[in-house]
Amino acid sequence: MASAVPSTATDDEPTEETALQTARRQLERAAANLDVDPGVIERLRHPNQVHRVSVPLERDDGSTAVYTGYRAQHDSVRGPYKGGLRFHPGVTEAECIGLSMWMTWKCAVMDLPFGGGKGGIVVDPKDLSTDEKERLTRRFAEELRPFIGPTKDIPAPDMGTDAQTMAWFMDAYSMQEGETKAGVVTGKPPVVGGSEGRDTAPGRSVAIIAREAIDYLGWDIEDTTVAVQGFGSVGAPAARLLDDEGATVVAVSDVNGAIYDPDGLDTHDVPTHEEEPEAVMKYDAPRKLSNEELLELDVDVLIPAAVGNVLTAENAGDVQADLVVEGANGPTTSAASEIFEEREIPVVPDILANAGGVTVSYFEWLQDLNHRSWSLERVHDELETEMLRAWTAVRERVEEHDVTWRDAAYMVALERVSEAHEHRGLWP
Ligand code: GLU
Repeated sequence: MASAVPSTATDDEPTEETALQTARRQLERAAANLDVDPGVIERLRHPNQVHRVSVPLERDDGSTAVYTGYRAQHDSVRGPYKGGLRFHPGVTEAECIGLSMWMTWKCAVMDLPFGGGKGGIVVDPKDLSTDEKERLTRRFAEELRPFIGPTKDIPAPDMGTDAQTMAWFMDAYSMQEGETKAGVVTGKPPVVGGSEGRDTAPGRSVAIIAREAIDYLGWDIEDTTVAVQGFGSVGAPAARLLDDEGATVVAVSDVNGAIYDPDGLDTHDVPTHEEEPEAVMKYDAPRKLSNEELLELDVDVLIPAAVGNVLTAENAGDVQADLVVEGANGPTTSAASEIFEEREIPVVPDILANAGGVTVSYFEWLQDLNHRSWSLERVHDELETEMLRAWTAVRERVEEHDVTWRDAAYMVALERVSEAHEHRGLWP
């Protein structure tokens, strides 16, 4: 099944260091910086539950294929599990667990009343017709139905899934429950209970955080150059918003490679993955580069917004950017993080920078529970407020404790999660 090369800003997966290994290492680092009950840390090293299901599918040719699906539920001390479902050939149980831990911290750093979950199916969606994708999604929803629900665990889109996938998922769940339960998933089309602004929210938050970091470093955004790896749901809105704010976006890429213009690209003219898949390299630009070359460009800000584990021990020493803002989940390996720390290159972590996605998911869930939709303007205003609140909490830690941005974000998150555990206690 794993034949085609993945292409969107949220595709492909790490191999050299599993997300679970990275997540555990980060938890240990954060714990070392805080006075937290070791029993709570021990609990947080393990997911509460991991569901593994078989998902049978009748293919268009009448044959039957069986896929493996997972839902990892890491921690729910602050509220229902929350996090995406990915359709990708590289999905593994360990990866889902690691990513579910990241969702726990992401929701906590944003102070959302959610815990962390993540799941997916081991499948390359490019190998499926639209009808097959629909049948697979509906059956997956049915297999997960005992474990999820609007107050239990609320999935969302991730790599290889989108608003349409969420609409099928919600429909299948609702039909079996006997009533429409829009709040069972987020990231739906607005016409069936989705939120305005959810699709571009992860990229919007990356742009807001990059802007704040640029300002914090005392740079003028008008004189700032930016390279963005990935031009999908995270990279494209981030690049366009920073372009609108006055930054010079000199390079963007998709799975086939990068386009580069030292005078700045017209980011609104370059088609996003959603507008036209894999079209970046067809765009007329002064130079074409590889994705590896994009990462090592001499720019002010580097935004890896494509896939995991792209900044590694091999290339971190060659990165010339003075600031990294993580758009993808887990783009920087632990070894690369250490190299950036030694080189004093700030890395603003994924759990803060791309948290706009889950934050607008929270807004969507509130809209569903209240049966009242918000305007796009309200979504943008409230997202801005929440991102600035989280940015300030993390910035204060950086200033007080002289730690990296990642450590600071983990400190904020872990403190909130562990305090909740200490108050709720361990029973029996
Ligand atoms: N999959 C997204 C993430 O990694 C969003 C999760 C959500 O909205 O629940 O943050």
